[in-house]
Amino acid sequence: MANAIIVGMQWGDEGKGKIVDLICPAFDAVVRFQGGHNAGHTVRFADRHFSLHLIPSGILHGDTRCVLGNGMVVSPEAFFAELDRLVEAGVETAGRLFVSDRAHALLPWHVELDRAREEARGVHAIGTTSRGIGPAYEAKASRHGLRLGDLGSSDLEAKLRVEHARVAAELAALGAPEPTPDGDLARLSREWAERLEPFLADTEVALAEWIEEGASLLFEGAQGALLDLDHGTYPYVTSSSSTAGGACTGSGVPPTAIGGSLGVLKAYTTRVGAGPFPTELEDDTGDYLRRRGNEFGTTTGRPRRCGWLDTVVARYARRLNGTGSLALTKMDVLDHLDEIRVCTAYEIDGETVRSLPADLAKLGRAKPVYRTFPGWQQDTVGVLEYDQLPKPARDYVRFIEDEVGARVDLVSTGPRREETIVREGGALHDLLGERFTNVLDARGA
Ligand code: GDP
Repeated sequence: MANAIIVGMQWGDEGKGKIVDLICPAFDAVVRFQGGHNAGHTVRFADRHFSLHLIPSGILHGDTRCVLGNGMVVSPEAFFAELDRLVEAGVETAGRLFVSDRAHALLPWHVELDRAREEARGVHAIGTTSRGIGPAYEAKASRHGLRLGDLGSSDLEAKLRVEHARVAAELAALGAPEPTPDGDLARLSREWAERLEPFLADTEVALAEWIEEGASLLFEGAQGALLDLDHGTYPYVTSSSSTAGGACTGSGVPPTAIGGSLGVLKAYTTRVGAGPFPTELEDDTGDYLRRRGNEFGTTTGRPRRCGWLDTVVARYARRLNGTGSLALTKMDVLDHLDEIRVCTAYEIDGETVRSLPADLAKLGRAKPVYRTFPGWQQDTVGVLEYDQLPKPARDYVRFIEDEVGARVDLVSTGPRREETIVREGGALHDLLGERFTNVLDARGA
């Protein structure tokens, strides 16, 4: 069976957590390759809700191995907090959880810088999660960063002293409080190094060995394609590569080892923070989607901006990720609308445009060209067979498939695993081969 990548097709919050949880039993290991604890997955486990930000939700599945790859920035404090909750719930992590020694450490300084900078931007704030992700990646790119494997190194104090001077100067210029003293951080780093020791590994080597042994890997993308540092709506993006290409650089696995990708597409669109959003609804329908879809950030609690599905965005994400298979989520949120719209193109300065412009000012002027569908106005929650979806809902799905150019293999109609239509005979079935039945079993019913 091929290794696969799961990616968000919009601006994040597409419901990847639920889909990863559902398809996870078809894989031997789940690998995260970018981002940090700015991601947020809510998964139900033994009647409990688990909010996982760093550790893949695969950890809740029996013997699935979980990897935090080299492309991530890892806050040791956030990591230990999640670990403690897992231990409390009796989840065995020993020998199943591997953290790359090449992943960068997200330090308290990065959080301090993130907050101070975001505050200083005032009305031009990016809307970051203020968790230090951007500054941690910046330290990596400017080669000031500390990797997890360096936390216990002999020259740690000297490195931190130099870095402290730089951080202190910037915070002072921003009028922010002084940074955590480097001596305190050195002490903490040594404690972290000790506690991290059993989890740290040369994960690139481990992944290569597992592939060699015939294991199947699921690469779990966080955020979404439109938040990708290169391909997203820059500068309103995250600081890492959240599209399929990031899976290779962020884990050390070659492209030849990856068989395909599953794109998670929400049946409407949401976005957190600032930046262009052509199909945004600042009206009662937008409020309705927010309330019914519970569109409030799991990490920050912020209300998400809501709007109609945008297939210009989805086509762009499909091309970037090579997505042959889609999981369409939150269909149930649309159940009781009179009519549903889908954006198929933009009108910009009198021209019809079907692809996403790089120029944000241009994107800001984009007027969506809509196709309107009648609502199905009945509950779809818990429908298990595609044919049992109301005809207008199937028409909606069919239209999305044609516009985006990928098959909808999963339709999610509720937050629970069982509330999913799993369609046989599509790209996902081809990708998973015999293990497709594991997904059907996980879905149950
Ligand atoms: P992620 O960041 O892409 O993993 O998205 P989240 O984990 O934040 O998922 C968003 C929320 O939507 C979570 O609370 C899920 O339980 C919920 N959710 C996922 N799929 C569905 C669905 O099909 N219908 C409804 N109503 N809720 C869903």
